[in-house]
Amino acid sequence: MQLTQLQASRYERIPPRRAMGVTAGALRGLRAALAAGLLATLLSACAASPSRYPGPALPVSKLEQLRADALRALPPDEAGEFLDADLVEVVTLDPSLKLDVRYAGPDNFLRAPVYPEARVFLQRPAAEAVVRVNRALRAQGYGLLLFDGYRPWYVTWLFWEATPNEKRNFVADPATGSRHNRGCAIDLSLYDLKTGLEVPMPSGYDEFSERAHPDYEGGTPEQRAARDLLRTAMEAEGFTVNDDEWWHYDYRDWRSYRIGTVMFKDL
Ligand SMILES: [Zn+2]
Repeated sequence: MQLTQLQASRYERIPPRRAMGVTAGALRGLRAALAAGLLATLLSACAASPSRYPGPALPVSKLEQLRADALRALPPDEAGEFLDADLVEVVTLDPSLKLDVRYAGPDNFLRAPVYPEARVFLQRPAAEAVVRVNRALRAQGYGLLLFDGYRPWYVTWLFWEATPNEKRNFVADPATGSRHNRGCAIDLSLYDLKTGLEVPMPSGYDEFSERAHPDYEGGTPEQRAARDLLRTAMEAEGFTVNDDEWWHYDYRDWRSYRIGTVMFKDL
């Protein structure tokens, strides 16, 4: 599940935040540029899929069946005291955060869109901590690029069912759930404030190999420095990096929240 040199094309999907001094000619040019960008993105996605995510895409009919079954499945019963969920959409707290929600499109390990919307939610204290990290990194020329946050439990169920037995060590068991289900885990990387581009790391996001290990000593010194800068900034705000994935962080209070399965549109 390897990320190739296609990060740049992804940013063509991000619309400009505002158009200034717009004229009819500029609008035509903008439309042409957007169309060209969309075409380039589609072409690069088609070209990239076979090498980045080996194996066939999950057929649409199979995905629809799994989604229907997942929505009928029941999350595990959890005993004990929990805080009330307070999931917030993180970019509403800081619009300078960037999103690249791969599960909302075909650019993920199932090669099929699983989330109906490209949105990232977290429990409020975790979201506020992410905003503080983003602010701290700004002085060093970086911003945060968010891949995934709260993941409804039914999606964890769907991932598990769609994954062959021998590869299930890469996905969370729905019987115990994922910390993403509690709204206290975030997958993220850095982007360069000057170029807007994703900063190269020793491995791509969702690349399940030794290069994804947060202490992996390969890659270039610049890649390791970027990965370690992200880690230092996240740890300063109460996050802990996952042992196998440099991009996955758990917020310190994750045990305080229940597994949730509410869909984005209902938040
Ligand atoms: Zn994660």
